[in-house]
Amino acid sequence: MEIVIIGSGVAGVSFAEKYRSHSEDAEITLITRENDGYYSRPLLSRGFSKDTIEQTIILKTFDKLRENNINVISGADITAIDRSNKTIAIEGSCQEKSLNYDKLILAPGSAAFIPPPFRPYSQLFFCLNSLVDLKALRKFRTGLVNKNRKPEWAIIGGGLIGCEVASDLAVVGDKVTLFHAMDRLMERQLQPEDSALLHKVLQDSGVKVLLNQAVQGFIKQEEKVCVKTDVTSEFDALIVACGFKPHTELAEQAGLEVGRGIKVNQYLQTSDEDIYALGDVAELPNGKLYAFVLPIRSQANWLAGYIAGQEQQSWTPPVFTTKAKVHGFEAVHPYAV
Ligand SMILES: Cc1cc2nc3c(=O)[nH]c(=O)nc-3n(C[C@H](O)[C@H](O)[C@H](O)COP(=O)(O)OP(=O)(O)OC[C@H]3O[C@@H](n4cnc5c(N)ncnc54)[C@H](O)[C@@H]3O)c2cc1C
Repeated sequence: MEIVIIGSGVAGVSFAEKYRSHSEDAEITLITRENDGYYSRPLLSRGFSKDTIEQTIILKTFDKLRENNINVISGADITAIDRSNKTIAIEGSCQEKSLNYDKLILAPGSAAFIPPPFRPYSQLFFCLNSLVDLKALRKFRTGLVNKNRKPEWAIIGGGLIGCEVASDLAVVGDKVTLFHAMDRLMERQLQPEDSALLHKVLQDSGVKVLLNQAVQGFIKQEEKVCVKTDVTSEFDALIVACGFKPHTELAEQAGLEVGRGIKVNQYLQTSDEDIYALGDVAELPNGKLYAFVLPIRSQANWLAGYIAGQEQQSWTPPVFTTKAKVHGFEAVHPYAV
C-alpha cells in the first residue's frame, strides 16, 4: 500500500507515525513545503519572549521521521492531484516530480485569513502562521532593537492569536496597539466577563486596546506604516491576525467537494474514496472545522487505525477546550470552541 501525505503539521506527522505503528511494510511518503522540521505551531505566539524559540519550537527533525521509515520530501510543493491516474505533481528542488498513491491524505492546514480590503496592501504587513513568518518577524524586530529603537507594533485582530501575540510583544517591552473590530476581545470564545478580564490584563501589560475599529487600509510612509481608521496612526510594523483560511486550493482543482474546508464524512473521507482530509483543512458533516491540536491528533490516530483496518466506528470529536496563551490571563469560564 502506498500512502502519500501532504503536510508536515500535527495532522500529517501524527498520522504518518501512527500508521507506521500499525503497518511495518506500507510505503509512507510525507511531502511538505517546510524545511525546518516538524514544529509546534501553537508556540509561534510565544516567539518573542523565548530567545531560543527557533530551535526549541522544533518537535522532530525530518531525519528523525526518516529513521522511522517515513520517506519525507521537504521543500516541495504539491501543485496538482490527478485523481484518474492516482498521482500528484510536485515542484521544488527535490528529485521527484510526481508520485503514485493508493491512499492520499490531505493535511495541508491553513493560511492566515486576510480580509479582502487588506489584500492590496500585502507588502505592508506581517502574519504569524508559520515558522518562516516568525523568523521574518524576529529578524525585523532585531533590526530595530540593534538600532536602539523600541519597536512599535499594530496588531489587527483581537481574536486568540492577535491577543497572544500582543501579549508576547508587550512582555518583551515593545509598544503594542491592538485594533479589534468588535466591542470585546475574543468574543467568539469568551464570556463577556472573561473578555473584560483579558482586556484589563493586556492593558496592564502595556497594550493599548482599541475596540470597534473599522480598519480601512494601510499606508507606507518612509520607514513607518500607518493604519487608517477614522484617524491615521503610525507604527514600525503591522501584524494581521484575522483568523485562518484552510488550504482548499488543491482539492478544489481536483474537483473534490469543498465548502469552508475540504468536505469529509464521519470517516474523514472526501468525495473521492481514496482521498482523506484531516486537521485545519477538514470540514466535518456538522459544518465544523476542528482547528486545534487535541482534536487533530485524535483525527490522525483514528484515521491511521481506520485505514489499517483496526477501527470500524466513525471518528467522533473528543471533548476538549482551549486556552489563550496570554501572559497572566486565566479565564473563569470554559472557552467556546
Ligand atoms: C500562532 C498560532 C497559535 C496557535 N495556538 C494554538 C493553541 O494554543 N492550541 C491549539 O490547540 N491550537 C493552536 N493553534 C492552531 C493549531 O496550531 C492548528 O490547528 C494546527 O497546527 C493545524 O495543524 P495541521 O497539521 O492541520 O496544519 P498545519 O500545522 O498548518 O500544517 C500543514 C502543513 O502543510 C504544508 N503544506 C500546505 N500546503 C502544501 C502543499 N501544497 N505542498 C506541500 N506542503 C503543503 C504547510 O507548509 C504545513 O507545514 C495555533 C495556531 C497558530 C497559527
